[in-house]
Amino acid sequence: MSMSEHSELLEALQPHDRALLLPRLTQVRLETGRILYDPGEPVDYCYFPCGGAIASFFVLLENGDTVETLMVGREGALGAIVSNGASPAYARSSVMHGGYFYRIAAAELDHAKEASAAIRSLFARYADCLMAQVFQSIACNAIHTIEQRAAKWLIAAIERIGRNDITMTQEQLASMMGIGRSYASRVVQRFKTDGLVRTRRGGIEVVLPEQLEQRACTCNRLVKRHFETVLAGVYPEP
Ligand SMILES: [Zn+2]
Repeated sequence: MSMSEHSELLEALQPHDRALLLPRLTQVRLETGRILYDPGEPVDYCYFPCGGAIASFFVLLENGDTVETLMVGREGALGAIVSNGASPAYARSSVMHGGYFYRIAAAELDHAKEASAAIRSLFARYADCLMAQVFQSIACNAIHTIEQRAAKWLIAAIERIGRNDITMTQEQLASMMGIGRSYASRVVQRFKTDGLVRTRRGGIEVVLPEQLEQRACTCNRLVKRHFETVLAGVYPEP
């Protein structure tokens, strides 16, 4: 595993605290589209995306639509963050960009939290950052334009993947954002016309990230600032 295949969240621990977790962590390679939990299923494992891997949470609506709520890269973890003991998943979590993940059994993580105040504190601080992400995404969905949200989303994805090429169709982008496909293709077309992105079959390449970021709302930056205050150094830098 190269240096870039780290979980920044785990790297934030001091070596002796990380040593408590390491023997219980397994590294797995998970492909794009792999479902980690579905609503109501027990959360058996906590997953830490490493390197450019990304997972995201989706809310399943009554009509069968799924809407993405937020993405988690190497700055974070999924599952058993705050819960103690077994609890069911509320949202679907799936792999948005395949790669390496550390995983630990939820019960083992609970033991480690009991054994180490630093591990408890790390997860409490991360839960606070996750809550900030949720608040921000509620505000973002309510008031920011589709163009601002699409730009924000693409920038957040490339910051985590670590390169400017995102494997996804415009249909997937639409479903991520909870908008109609025609809205998504219109906004991507506008970015293309302005030379900000290029599209290929099944993928979107960001050509001018700085200019694209200027079209985004500031939601990412606000969340990033909270991460810097609460969990310095774990949020992915471009
Ligand atoms: Zn926003």
